Amino acid sequence: MTEAPDHHHSPVTVEFLSDWRNASYNCFSSGHKFCREVCPVMQVTRNESWTPTAFHANVVAMEKGELTVEDVAEDYVNCTQCGACELRCPNTLFTGDFYRFRTRTVDLVKQMRALAVDNGVHQPGYQRWNQLTDERTHEPVLGEVPVSQEHVRDWSAGLDIPIGGETILFVDCEAAFYRTSVPRAVAQILQRAGVEFGLMREQWCCGGPAAEMGYRDQAKRFAEHNLADWRASGVKRVLVLDPHDYITFTEDYPAYFGEDYEIEVVLVVELLAKLITEGKLTPEIPIERTITYHDPCRLNKRKGVWQEPRQILRSIPGLTFNDVDRVTQWSYCSGGGGGLPVEKPELTAKISENRLAKAAELEVDTLVSACPWSERPLSAAGEAHRIDVVDIHELLAESLGIEVGGSRGA
Ligand code: SF4
Ligand code: SF4
Repeated sequence: MTEAPDHHHSPVTVEFLSDWRNASYNCFSSGHKFCREVCPVMQVTRNESWTPTAFHANVVAMEKGELTVEDVAEDYVNCTQCGACELRCPNTLFTGDFYRFRTRTVDLVKQMRALAVDNGVHQPGYQRWNQLTDERTHEPVLGEVPVSQEHVRDWSAGLDIPIGGETILFVDCEAAFYRTSVPRAVAQILQRAGVEFGLMREQWCCGGPAAEMGYRDQAKRFAEHNLADWRASGVKRVLVLDPHDYITFTEDYPAYFGEDYEIEVVLVVELLAKLITEGKLTPEIPIERTITYHDPCRLNKRKGVWQEPRQILRSIPGLTFNDVDRVTQWSYCSGGGGGLPVEKPELTAKISENRLAKAAELEVDTLVSACPWSERPLSAAGEAHRIDVVDIHELLAESLGIEVGGSRGA
């Protein structure tokens, strides 16, 4: 491979260009743009500069010296890192079979954001968000919800959960401080099934959002802290209820720590489906709702997890389940991921509105989600359609007769 020519780019930019040039020429030269129609940002903006195609083409233009990081950095804000475009891309589907190539737009967006930060180009919302996360060791969950290390376990009041042990439950910042009924539901269902688990001794943010916004040093620092804390308290297994944490622990952490990363990561939705199949949990109380399910992007599109949540829902008596016709790459995003609500809340709202319009077509009264981060934008959009947005764990707890407690908002 020829070296990327240096058109007065910084060394870090030259390295980035050489890493991404093949993938970018691959996309640029095919030009079919199939990805655009599945992109939730494109669907609501029709802005050609904010497509996976443009994200790759910019790299070609930068390599040729036609554009700089400063010129394009802001465009990369317009991505939820949902992964739909990667699945839809024929270069993944066809050449991928032969050359083992995979289009990796999510990684490109993450790394372009990191490149911007490394070159001193900051987006004001991202910068402030990461400064506050650094100060508080937790994300400043949208709005004025107070967060701090001292209060990270407050959600579990009265549930008698020990600290530490071989298996621990990791609770994301949104659920720990804002949607406390979600971790309370999860914890009580696990207790009901006889699963032993503890809480983290000292829990910082997983670092995933910092990585998504381009602050990779901070992300790694947080990851190092959490891993050190797991090791010091004898943790072997981490239960994760949030799809974003799941991605971070199964993709970012192994990339940081390589073979030294010896922690087993278990997605709670998968564990619950298994416990139901094994007869260790039997939802019995009928719930008379007509529902559909919102596939969180991080689960179905990025991790291929879409069956287990449906298994759980089908085990709950009383529910009428009107499922979507499109799962995999076509499923609709909430707009809540990839830092989009931090810089572009109006776009998040439009994407959520789109999602709720699709739910309304199915004539449901309830949209069930398995992602704490999707719930605020979906709930806001649901009001206009009179569709209630509920969390899958809470719904299961209700059918098991568990009084969850906690809060569905600040
Ligand atoms: S990302 Fe894939 S589908 Fe989209 S334009 Fe590039 S090659 Fe085509
Ligand atoms: S990851 Fe999702 S939001 Fe980002 S460019 Fe691809 S389809 Fe669009």
